[in-house]
Order: sequence, then C-alpha cells, then structure tokens
Amino acid sequence: MSSSHRDILIQGGGPVGLACAAWCLQKYPEAKITLLDRNPLDDADLAAADSRGIALSHGSKILLDTIHAWPSECADIHRVHVSQAGRFGRALMTREELQQDALGHIVRYRDIHLALRQALRVIQKTSPNFVWQHIQDDHEPSSNNAKCIVHAEGGLFKTQDWVESGRDYGQSALVGLVEVENAAPHQAWERFTAEGPLAVLPSHYGPNILNLVWCGSPESSQHRLQLNDAEFLASLQNEFGSRIGRFLKISDRRLYELGLNYRKQITKDNEVWIGNAAQTLHPVAGQGLNLGLRDAYLLAEKLVEVFARPTEEHSLVNIQHALENYAQSRKVDRTATIGLTDFMARVFTSNLTPVVLARGLALSALQWLPPVKTALARQMMFGRR
Ligand SMILES: Cc1cc2nc3c(=O)[nH]c(=O)nc-3n(C[C@H](O)[C@H](O)[C@H](O)COP(=O)(O)OP(=O)(O)OC[C@H]3O[C@@H](n4cnc5c(N)ncnc54)[C@H](O)[C@@H]3O)c2cc1C
Repeated sequence: MSSSHRDILIQGGGPVGLACAAWCLQKYPEAKITLLDRNPLDDADLAAADSRGIALSHGSKILLDTIHAWPSECADIHRVHVSQAGRFGRALMTREELQQDALGHIVRYRDIHLALRQALRVIQKTSPNFVWQHIQDDHEPSSNNAKCIVHAEGGLFKTQDWVESGRDYGQSALVGLVEVENAAPHQAWERFTAEGPLAVLPSHYGPNILNLVWCGSPESSQHRLQLNDAEFLASLQNEFGSRIGRFLKISDRRLYELGLNYRKQITKDNEVWIGNAAQTLHPVAGQGLNLGLRDAYLLAEKLVEVFARPTEEHSLVNIQHALENYAQSRKVDRTATIGLTDFMARVFTSNLTPVVLARGLALSALQWLPPVKTALARQMMFGRR
C-alpha cells in the first residue's frame, strides 16, 4: 500500500511508537496506519537487547493494561529511600502514605518493548488497514505523502540528529545488575553522591538482585566501566555504604550519556513529535518513558477524533487543528515533567556548599511535610492532568 493512501505514518517502533499505533487501532480498527520499524521482525533478535531497568509509574501501568501490554516480569516498589552520601537530609516515601498498591514498577526496557510488540500483533489481527513495515537503518522514508506523520524515532542524548533546547549535564549513567547481601524487598534507594544520583532499584530476579543506575562524570563512568568486578564492587560499596550489606556481584554493565534535549514546538503542519523524539530527559526522576506513553495515549485520542470521520473531513486544516489541540493538551504535563527533571538533575548534581545544604533541608522538609511529599509523588506517578 503506498504511503499516499495512508492516513497516519508512525516513524519509530520503540515503546512510544508501538503504543501510539496500538491505542489508535484499539479506538479505531479501520485506521489506515503505517508503522515504520527499524527493529527486526523476529522477537528473538531483541531478546538479548537493552536490559536496563526502567521505572514505570502506576499511571503507565494503568495505560499499558488497556492494551494488555504489561510485561509479566516486573518488580513493584513499595518504599523509596532518598539520601545524600556523607551529608544530612533523608526522606522515605511509602505506598501506605500514598494509599497505592505500589509507588512504581521496575521493568527491563526490552520486556516493555516485547510486550508492546506482542500487544500490537494481537490488535493487528482486527485492523485490516494497518501496515507494519520493518525497514533497514539506511531506509529513506517517503513519508511526505501520508496525511499525518508521527515522529517516534526516539534516541539517546548525543545520538539524536536534532538538537534544539536543553542542557548537557556532563553526566553518564552506568547501569547494571548487582547482587547484594541483604536487600529490603520492594525497596528502592536513591542516593545523591558528589558526582550525581546513584539508584539501586528492585528487579524481578529476586530480592537480592537489584538494578543499578549510577550517574557520574563521563570520565569516572568510563573508568568504572573498565574496572574489574572486584574493584567495581569496592568502589560502589564505598559510595553507597552498608545499608543493604555487601555488594557481591555485578553483571551487564552498560554506559549511557545523559542530558536534556527537547523541542519547543512539538507540531508543525501535519507532523508531530512524541516520546524521546520530542524530549529526552535525564533519568534522575525516571520520567522519560512515562511521559512518552502519556504523549502516545493522548495523541491517539486526537488522531482518532479526526480520522474516524468521513474522508472528506481529513483536510489539512482539520489535521493541523487536531495536532495543535494535542500540543495544547500536553503543555502542562510536559513543561512540569521537563522542569522537575531538569531541576532535580541540576540540584542533585551540584557540589556547591549552599546547594548541598539546601538539598539536605529540602529532603528533611519532604520528610516532615507530608502534603509536599504526596504532591511530588503524585506528579511522578501520574503526571500533571
Ligand atoms: C540510563 C537510562 C535510564 C532510564 N530510566 C528511565 C526510567 O526509569 N523511567 C522512564 O520512564 N524512562 C527512563 N529512561 C528513558 C526511556 O528509556 C526513554 O524515554 C524511552 O525509551 C523513549 O521511548 P521512545 O519509543 O520514544 O524511544 P526509543 O526507546 O529510543 O525507541 C525509538 C525506536 O525508533 C527506532 N527508529 C529510530 N529512527 C527511526 C526511523 N527513522 N524510522 C523507523 N524507526 C526508527 C529506533 O530503532 C528505536 O527502536 C531512561 C533512559 C536512560 C538512558
């Protein structure tokens, strides 16, 4: 089917592009959608791919449940302990305070990706006009003919071929799986060190195998990547302390460069940008994919409002109107999530004495002012609505 007969072309078969296609088709199975996917057709080729642990909010779980795309392997977070290495100030958030079953969930990137592919395959069976096209890296899309183009090409900071607004925090994240002696089940730890946040998060592998996200300068992170296991574990123990006993094993170390890159305008004519293609965030607050899924869900709603109408009504003006409407409806959530993440990334990576003191006070205030803590936790769980 040529792209000139297409209503919607989605470029990018990552979690956000897949979710957007699935929600559009679930709401309107007749939709003429093409999904361009650079990933291989066969799931087996993705099984060894990106295993980093991603924190998904309860709000994202509710959204993914609507298309049966919640991965079977995940770990729930019941408590989050936040502290500063060698300084005063700590806060503890619990699911009881928030009156939720869980504060969040940790899932491997590849499991989210595979669960969404599986969910879309099921929806595809009842979507006669849906085309899922697997393409090569050098494929030049002839996209200009589709009535509406959704950019979901995603990408990581510094690998994106567009740079608009943002900030380079001069940080990298080293991720991996770490085995410890004595973890508290379902507890996540976020510790602010001199170089940046160090998070130790539950995993579905069992209570003592945890996901590590250790942010630091690119040079130190590179150095840590090259240390042998014993040296690495000693260095980690030194930074984290002994709250969960000894660090025993490390596996699957990977490095990611971090920064903020976001578009000021997320729509132009008949084009729209969602997920990491619209904004790439520092993982300090674990918000990138959560925000991207909310983008995909709301965009699907707006697109279906237009394309479920008779063909004569698919004018450029109507499409532009729907996209502008979408951009407007995402403004508050997007601004708040980018702003909060940028604020946290800057405050929690600064070593200036006044900032360190203010950070300690802020953590203590968070602990002793339950309404502030609840408001912050709710923003992180559900976004701004
Ligand atoms: C270390 C780290 C930790 C993170 N932790 C969290 C967390 O705890 N919680 C959270 O919510 N977020 C987290 N994130 C962010 C999260 O990974 C991203 O926000 C999310 O992956 C964005 O999904 P996406 O589909 O927009 O992009 P991607 O995941 O980048 O997927 C885009 C897909 O599009 C494909 N593609 C690219 N170009 C084209 C093209 N021209 N045509 C077709 N296909 C194309 C790519 O191959 C890829 O498969 C973290 C990020 C990092 C780096």
